[in-house]
Amino acid sequence: MKLDYLMPARLLLGENCVIEQRSLLSPLGKKALIVMGKNSARKNGAYADAAKALEANGQDHVLYDQVMENPTDTCAFEAGNLAKTTGCDFVLSIGGGSPMDAAKAAAVLAVNKISKEELFNSSFAAALPLAAIPTTAGTGSETTHYSVLMDTTEADGKTPRAGGPAKRSIASPLFFSRFAFLDAKYLLWLGRNITVNTTLDALSHAIEGMLTLRTNYLSNILARESIAMIMDCMDDLLSFPSEPSAFSAEKREKLLLASSLAGMVIAQSGTALPHSMGYYFTANWDTAHGRANGLLIKSFLSLCREKEKKDPSIAPRIPGLSAALGMDMERFFDLLERLLGIREKANKTELSAWSAQPMKNAANTYIKPNQEEIGQIFRESVG
Ligand code: NAP
Ligand code: ZN
Repeated sequence: MKLDYLMPARLLLGENCVIEQRSLLSPLGKKALIVMGKNSARKNGAYADAAKALEANGQDHVLYDQVMENPTDTCAFEAGNLAKTTGCDFVLSIGGGSPMDAAKAAAVLAVNKISKEELFNSSFAAALPLAAIPTTAGTGSETTHYSVLMDTTEADGKTPRAGGPAKRSIASPLFFSRFAFLDAKYLLWLGRNITVNTTLDALSHAIEGMLTLRTNYLSNILARESIAMIMDCMDDLLSFPSEPSAFSAEKREKLLLASSLAGMVIAQSGTALPHSMGYYFTANWDTAHGRANGLLIKSFLSLCREKEKKDPSIAPRIPGLSAALGMDMERFFDLLERLLGIREKANKTELSAWSAQPMKNAANTYIKPNQEEIGQIFRESVG
């Protein structure tokens, strides 16, 4: 066996961990750039806790609270410039994947004079230290070394990108957080849609992580555990209460940890085909990232099962996945449909355009899907 496992983030889980473990932040620097979205971090108390923790440590902070969903390159540059001009020496993100990803790029841009293309190509050698307070349970960005940003402009940084913005993923070991503070109390008011969509993202990470060529022994252990934890919350998700705070706090915490585990999985394995394909729904229809993956999983897994049966050179992985899910695929597909509800529909032009696109993650997917099969998954999922 060969193994190369890196996950340098120290994970703190538990109620009030930001305040109780605040001293961990002291060695990171004198002034933090806090990166967050426009609303939720104020409403759920995470920003107040972070500000209190920093103040008690004698650390200043500067606030960047303009991160939008599916953050843009422009937003990352703005946050990076703010850190630079105000002399911040570390970056603390609060929120879902969007603020965490924008913060990673800002940490790089604060200490490098680089172009947008250099950022997207990971051509940088330094970054400010990072810490994260995730307030959704889905992306696992707090335990990954990825930042996903919208590329909105051409290389000149001004002209709008031909064909519209594209989602691009940047990978760098400098994007690992030093600390991730997981406190489920910040998630108590998350409504049904965001809760379900982000859970679908974490579930996709764990499932896809078992189905890539870079899968390894440890990533599989983490993926199986993450899947089991998420499946244990399935009944609660299906009967989501009309009052979000009535969703079990114990299950919120379980989903939050499962999401961090799934982040550790994809930090090793990368993602498989659905993650490349789902970006088309998000870019064209604004579909939430997790839902986009969720829409593709059933058809993707059906294709995996079919190819395993037909091609003896493919070592079967679906039986192991089914064991992790604790059920056969048909029952899992039924649960997925109930979570997804009515599916989005693509028109013929969209279907044929997307089906012709090469998919970045196809090469990392163990069944090595061809272009015809990619088209088949699009048609079955949203046709
Ligand atoms: P998000 O875009 O960060 O947030 C979605 C919405 O949820 C926002 O309106 C946000 O409001 C709100 N929100 C966040 N926390 C909340 C809370 N505790 N209570 C109530 N509302 C809350 O969603 P996400 O699904 O977590 O992140 C998606 C992004 O992550 C995508 O861009 C995706 O590509 C990326 N991603 C990254 C990785 C990685 O490894 N880096 C992996 C997967 C996905 P505010 O804006 O007001 O905060
Ligand atoms: Zn994802």
